[in-house]
Amino acid sequence: HAKRDQAGEPVWFESWMSEEYRESVVLEAELREAIVKNELQLFYQPQINLKTGQVEGCEALLRWFHPERGMISPAVFIPIAERSMLIEEVGMWVVQETVNQIRRWEQTPLAMLGVSANLSVKELASGRIVDYLADIRNEHPGIERRMELEITESFGVFSDKRVFDALESLHAMGYQLAIDDFGTGYSSLSYLSRLPIQRLKIDRSFISGEDACSNAPLIETIIKLAHTLKYDVVAEGIEQLEQSESLRKLDCEYGQGFYYSRPIPADEFEVWFMQHQETLKSS
Ligand code: C2E
Ligand code: MG
Ligand code: MG
Ligand code: MG
Repeated sequence: HAKRDQAGEPVWFESWMSEEYRESVVLEAELREAIVKNELQLFYQPQINLKTGQVEGCEALLRWFHPERGMISPAVFIPIAERSMLIEEVGMWVVQETVNQIRRWEQTPLAMLGVSANLSVKELASGRIVDYLADIRNEHPGIERRMELEITESFGVFSDKRVFDALESLHAMGYQLAIDDFGTGYSSLSYLSRLPIQRLKIDRSFISGEDACSNAPLIETIIKLAHTLKYDVVAEGIEQLEQSESLRKLDCEYGQGFYYSRPIPADEFEVWFMQHQETLKSS
């Protein structure tokens, strides 16, 4: 990033910010290519029914295997994609690949699983993904009942009419909807109660974050709020058995986290699933 002069001192030819910006412009161009070059892949993380211990679904999480940089986190490249309409291309790829995976699991023991895909609010606002999901549903009748779409809560997002209408349309088509990272984005309660969603996902900072222990009353309040609004609750970021047990005692329906499994490729997920089923039978 820095050139060195003869004395070996770094000489910055650009400020740190613009260096970072230039880097992100390169990444954006490469991401555009990555879609055609097959460098994207979905990993899957199980979602467990905390009452029964059964796996009822999984979340599809996007990974980019860059030929030189190795695996790049969605936390890095999704925000870059969101700056331009590239996020729409990414979103359509994610939806298509999620559908492909659901179809590949038909006629296998994994056919009963729901699969959640993440959508960016930026895409919902533009509406193209809504048309795309309508086409997908026509091509694959019944797919909407197997697919859940997760939308991250962020400040003011659900008061945007375009976003709200997009959610209404997807709901009318029969897709399952969930609010992701709940508790971090200050949704207004009046909007929250009117959203056509089925599940709230409590952000993992409440579950396994640094002051997670002191969060217990807060978690309990969030779960009660969700239940008052008739939403089921998914707790993200379960890393320890004790966390899953206390969440179950608080009537949280579903759990997800490294304690069960990290996000893994589809073939590894199939193996994990079969082993989990065996463990349930023998316990
Ligand atoms: P998210 O949807 O809230 O996904 C959960 C994130 O928490 C994932 O990070 C997952 O690997 C991580 N996680 C799961 N369990 C644990 C745990 O027990 N402990 C800890 N410390 N972390 C856990 P990941 O895969 O890096 O994804 C980060 C974010 O990127 C996602 O957060 C989501 O907002 C976004 N993202 C991922 N895939 C997609 C996608 O296909 N489309 C869009 N638009 N966004 C995506
Ligand atoms: Mg998510
Ligand atoms: Mg989340
Ligand atoms: Mg998140």
